[in-house]
Amino acid sequence: VADSFDVLVIGAGPGGYMCAHRALQNGLSVAVADNGPSGGVCLNAGCIPTKGFLFGPPQAGGLGERVRQNAAAIGRLQKGVDFLLKGATRLDGRARLVGPGVVDVGGAEIRGRNVVIATGSRPRPLPGLPFDGVRVLSSDHTVVLEAAPESIAIIGAGAVGCEFAEVFSNYGSRVTLIEARDRLVPEMDPWLSKQLERAFKKRGMIVQTGVAVDPSELDGPVLVAIGRQANVEGLGLETVGLTTPNGFIQVDGHGATGVAGVWAIGDVTGPPQLAHRASRQGEIAADCMAGKSPASLDPLAIPACVYTHPQLAQVGRVTGDDLILGEAFFRANGYAVVTDRTDGGVRLFAESATGKLTGALLAGPEVAEMVGLINVLIAAGVTMAQARETVFPHPTLAEVVWEAARAAGSGG
Ligand SMILES: Cc1cc2nc3c(=O)[nH]c(=O)nc-3n(C[C@H](O)[C@H](O)[C@H](O)COP(=O)(O)OP(=O)(O)OC[C@H]3O[C@@H](n4cnc5c(N)ncnc54)[C@H](O)[C@@H]3O)c2cc1C
Repeated sequence: VADSFDVLVIGAGPGGYMCAHRALQNGLSVAVADNGPSGGVCLNAGCIPTKGFLFGPPQAGGLGERVRQNAAAIGRLQKGVDFLLKGATRLDGRARLVGPGVVDVGGAEIRGRNVVIATGSRPRPLPGLPFDGVRVLSSDHTVVLEAAPESIAIIGAGAVGCEFAEVFSNYGSRVTLIEARDRLVPEMDPWLSKQLERAFKKRGMIVQTGVAVDPSELDGPVLVAIGRQANVEGLGLETVGLTTPNGFIQVDGHGATGVAGVWAIGDVTGPPQLAHRASRQGEIAADCMAGKSPASLDPLAIPACVYTHPQLAQVGRVTGDDLILGEAFFRANGYAVVTDRTDGGVRLFAESATGKLTGALLAGPEVAEMVGLINVLIAAGVTMAQARETVFPHPTLAEVVWEAARAAGSGG
């Protein structure tokens, strides 16, 4: 095994593997170190298994059956990640910086002209309520749970808490969802929070917002989903002079840490902790290492989605006095009505001066599939009028986007 590389990536999650892949495409020599399976949290305990749980009706064999189906899918997708990394040297082991450009991986010293920290994050416990995997669960425990409990309290109504609330409700648990802030999915626009709260209450979940939990008052299983802390401990950051003032590694829009030759991407760099953000950060950093000058990542251009029913999606700028709004609802959409998926709607925003689209809020069926394409429209400077004058196929759910553009009137 060579012991010196252009790029040494620590962590094979969506940040690390996309960074490594782009670095390989750029003709650089690459090594990727991880002491866990390929794909990181996203593939093994995050994005992918949760979407398996949320898709379709509950399995007859209960959660355990779905866990086994997830495991089979994860196995296939791990092979895909390994294929992406073809050409990179895979180092199995825990990695730790021991000085500028030098990393210890499982006892071997490896040199990297560029070192990329893509070590991700882990569930944050509630003070006074440590995870035990039996009564106090983290998302790591719930993705491999064999059976749904009779009742469960979920603390934290961000994307993870809300998605699991729906999973447990679907599999027959009595769900109490508790959020300290005044609404569900508080990181998203209040209009989306409202759509979800209405649907959850209709389904019989108990939703408590603005409530600080007293752990001693809880009985029965609890899922704590109050956020994730960065994996920064034991990484030897001090050996290169890196600090973590708020628990995360600070980076600029190119993933540069301020220490020459040390980059950081993904969850370890703080919110929004999303797989596609990690991946894009990784690509941008890999282009910089190859001497290219990519644009820095625009935080507003990172879509956020929640895969509940209705699904929620948000992208771009959706507030400001200079914006016009076009709004339409799924209850007036032919495909939604005939397939009985009428919850929610679409809000499109554009600059009143230029008519250019700036952002969108979507609640409803399959909206996570739509928001990426709306993000392309925004990036391309498409106007509300152009969206309105484009032909959408009928009947499709996406016609609601077109209806929202039409509803914005003839201006723009
Ligand atoms: C339940 C759940 C659902 C989610 N759903 C979504 C979703 O739908 N969409 C979305 O965009 N995001 C979702 N996320 C978030 C997403 O999983 C993360 O944003 C993403 O995984 C971050 O990628 P990353 O590359 O930064 O780190 P990670 O995926 O955390 O990968 C980090 C890797 O680094 C390795 N590592 C850590 N320390 C070391 C070390 N010292 N040496 C060697 N290797 C090390 C770990 O083993 C791991 O493989 C979800 C998360 C959870 C928990």
